[in-house]
Amino acid sequence: MVSKILVSACLMGHAVRYDGGAKPLAHPAIERWMQEGLVVTICPEMSAGMPVPRPPAEIGDATDGEDVLAGTGRVVELTGGDVTEEFLRAAENAVRLATDNGCRYALLIDGSPSCGSGFIYDGSFSGSLRAGNGVTAAALKQAGLEVFSDREIDQLIERIGPNSTAAEDSGGR
Ligand code: SF4
Repeated sequence: MVSKILVSACLMGHAVRYDGGAKPLAHPAIERWMQEGLVVTICPEMSAGMPVPRPPAEIGDATDGEDVLAGTGRVVELTGGDVTEEFLRAAENAVRLATDNGCRYALLIDGSPSCGSGFIYDGSFSGSLRAGNGVTAAALKQAGLEVFSDREIDQLIERIGPNSTAAEDSGGR
């Protein structure tokens, strides 16, 4: 079975971000993976019923996605709302979709409290970043997926190999 790649919907050009925008990643590999039927797209937050636009949210108190999954971290909106339950549901949806579709890899946009896999905002809503995973990225990693940020697409290309099917047939991961 060919491994598929779970991709953040905003990277695919879908206008699903909190501000109503997208962050399309124009890369020929994505076009090829699309043609090969390897791309599975999700906006975790929208899958959990969150609207577009929506208030910006960050993971607070120097915690990250792993802490939220463990019940010791919270996700809060700039407007004060606690959206932890929505973010947990978003992560569950992403893991379920990835599992149901045989995704072994994920390509997620960095910085997001859901999809960030290298850095996230620090909870102060001041634009400050720190290392850490968003809630969905953490859940996908715990489920065994290899998660790459949009800045790491070249590493994902190298990981999958020039021909995804051949890489799978030879046992490559
Ligand atoms: Fe993009 Fe992920 Fe945020 Fe949805 S949850 S807008 S896919 S970064």
